[in-house]
Amino acid sequence: MSVLSQPHFHNEVAAISRLEEIVWPNGVHCPSCGGFDRITTVKGGRAGLRRCGPCKREFTVTVGTVFERSHIKLHLWFQAAHLMASSKKGISAHQLHRTLKVTYKTAWFMEHRLREAMREGHFVMGGEGKTVEIDETFVGGLEKNKHPSKRKHLGTGGAGKEAVFSLVERGGFVRSHHVPQVTAKTLRPIRQAQVDGPTFVMTDEGGATKKIGSEYDRHESVNHGAGEYVRGGAHTNTIEGYFSILKRGIIGTYHYVSQQHLKRYLAEFDFRYNYRMALGIGDESRADALVRGIVGKRLMYKDSFPASISGHAN
Ligand SMILES: [Zn+2]
Repeated sequence: MSVLSQPHFHNEVAAISRLEEIVWPNGVHCPSCGGFDRITTVKGGRAGLRRCGPCKREFTVTVGTVFERSHIKLHLWFQAAHLMASSKKGISAHQLHRTLKVTYKTAWFMEHRLREAMREGHFVMGGEGKTVEIDETFVGGLEKNKHPSKRKHLGTGGAGKEAVFSLVERGGFVRSHHVPQVTAKTLRPIRQAQVDGPTFVMTDEGGATKKIGSEYDRHESVNHGAGEYVRGGAHTNTIEGYFSILKRGIIGTYHYVSQQHLKRYLAEFDFRYNYRMALGIGDESRADALVRGIVGKRLMYKDSFPASISGHAN
């Protein structure tokens, strides 16, 4: 049986029950008064309609969420979330439009809303005994395709492209930032907010990245220009691997990513990496985590991870 044959992908009532399981893992509770007691199903009401005994309010699991406001059937949201969560390189709005049989405009809206849901709150990585690799890359459209007023030059390797600065903890999470330029001045505040003090920081010989990396007590760099890739534990293979997935996805699936929306695409690739198979998170739990993000309830961030690695997700 394929995953997509499950009822909540096709049937609205099943989709509501599934959403209730995801959003209310500890049982139904009232969004108005927060109570768990004396909540009943409204007979003859629309699917999932409940009534709270103490405060008398009626509600469904979609109350106050994008699901309530969007007029797109919940089972279609489930399909879209599953496809985005399980496609390594992403899924284009065109493909989603054909798969879900919704308009292109609707597919585009759904994808951007899902990307918003993938954005993680602030967290700090690294710490004693941990290694964080930091590096920059450039993604985006060809300069000649842009309006002259939008063209710009970002220095070596970056002309006409957008700069991305990422930090990856080995065996842990990634966080990517769209930055205006790659300079110590733009990267330093990010590094300061994101990486804990006693961390081992790895960089290549890139100017600005190496400079801010060297501000750590424990810093090493590898000189890719001189053909040096691995020296003992000193390498940036983890982040290079991440960038290769990011670039293949952006080039292969999305073709062109506008400056305005780049941060959302970064959130998408970061999300899939952070909820990856290697951390014991399968397609289904990844899709569930995404759905929680849509209803604004991914407060269970830590609960989505195995206990052994959840400690540094705070
Ligand atoms: Zn209530």
